[in-house]
Amino acid sequence: MSQEIDAIKKSVRRNKGRYIQELGELVRQPSVSTTGEGVSRCAELLASYMRALGISTHIYPTAGHPVVFGETGPDVGKTLLVYGHYDVQPPDPLDEWQSPPFEPQIRNGKLYGRGTSDNKGQLFAHLKGLEVYKELFGEPPFKIKYIFEGEEEIGSPHFEPFVVEHKELCEGSVAIFSDSHYHESGRPALILGLKGMLYLELTVRELAADCHSMKAAALPSAAWRLVTLLSTLKGEDGVVKIEGFYDRVRPPLPEEIEAVESIPYDPEAILKAHGAKKLLVNRSGTNYYHNMAFEPTCNIAGIVSGYTGKGSKTVLPAEARAKIDIRLVPDQTPGDILEKFLDHLKKHGFDDVEVRHEQGFLPSRTPVTDPYVTLTRAVITEVWGQEPVIHPGIGGAGPNYVFTDRLRVPCIVVPFAAADQANHAPNESLDLRGFEMGVATSAAVIRKLGAYWGLLSDGQG
Ligand SMILES: [Zn+2]
Repeated sequence: MSQEIDAIKKSVRRNKGRYIQELGELVRQPSVSTTGEGVSRCAELLASYMRALGISTHIYPTAGHPVVFGETGPDVGKTLLVYGHYDVQPPDPLDEWQSPPFEPQIRNGKLYGRGTSDNKGQLFAHLKGLEVYKELFGEPPFKIKYIFEGEEEIGSPHFEPFVVEHKELCEGSVAIFSDSHYHESGRPALILGLKGMLYLELTVRELAADCHSMKAAALPSAAWRLVTLLSTLKGEDGVVKIEGFYDRVRPPLPEEIEAVESIPYDPEAILKAHGAKKLLVNRSGTNYYHNMAFEPTCNIAGIVSGYTGKGSKTVLPAEARAKIDIRLVPDQTPGDILEKFLDHLKKHGFDDVEVRHEQGFLPSRTPVTDPYVTLTRAVITEVWGQEPVIHPGIGGAGPNYVFTDRLRVPCIVVPFAAADQANHAPNESLDLRGFEMGVATSAAVIRKLGAYWGLLSDGQG
């Protein structure tokens, strides 16, 4: 295999200038899902790149932005699924960009522009991986399906419905794709789980209208009532006090704990990077990566009430609102946690508080011991020359449950972007070394899967 990896890396090195130029054209086409700017034109452009690679491609409309779906390779009962998203975050604030967000520019080994890392560059690495594979080995010996959505940055509202509606079309054996970032040290990484989400908006109303704060002596305050409610939700240690909140939390397996404990860890650096004084204790200690992987959260995302402008205004607030995001771990579900949250309010005398919730979605986790994890790990080690850091789960939430829960396939995320990519922020960039490694990794994964599935006719692998 080593010779093959060499050949793959050489081919990537030879052609990377052209790949980056093509990626630049994709970045140049805005595709802001929040506003809709350029999204359908970007879908067309992406589809044209895919067709040029011999991928049979179709753009599927959804109730929101379209899904670009493509497939290539023979039907042999084994299928690799590659997910990605071609939509991007809004580029604001524009004046903080050193070069315009949709005019990609290379500086210091990085390609700057909105979507370079999140997710156009990472998605594109998989397309170029196929190109390299075909150049060196011919047609892939199994089917590869590319499923690229246009709404990830607004919470993938139509991705799950699309997959459920087109289940047969989307079926496969394993999903391997790229998002997020590799380790701060530059070491490659594997991400095997994401958190689920329940998003709530609470409104407390005590009076018909704000009034003079002298009346605070006799009338109730919505602000006080809201903070009293919030203080019942969580202890200072980080432990959530909603009854039954942890009932369905799946205890981490020994191999998952081992993986988390092997992640290079410098608590002082983490505190310094965030300007924080301490790490939360949670249920089992302060290990940052352990808690990111295995602890669900109940976070106050924002509170509004009364007067918060300049100077003083003595007012008794009639209304107070808070937004709460609850990140879930396997096997919690948004529906069950919502029920427990409402029970908690009732039990504490807050059942008159208005609770609005968004749809929510499930957490995901692929076992560390899954054979496809072992395979991907070996490929990365060979291509990057370094063992990947294994994350059984990370704090982020996303649509990976569509693969693990709806399609019932292992879901493995191999990030090709660096930790300083500044995604969602001004001056987003893609580290070109990561991109190059990414293209090579993607090509090598196709090769190694072909060997694993016994489909290489040339007897190699
Ligand atoms: Zn993003």
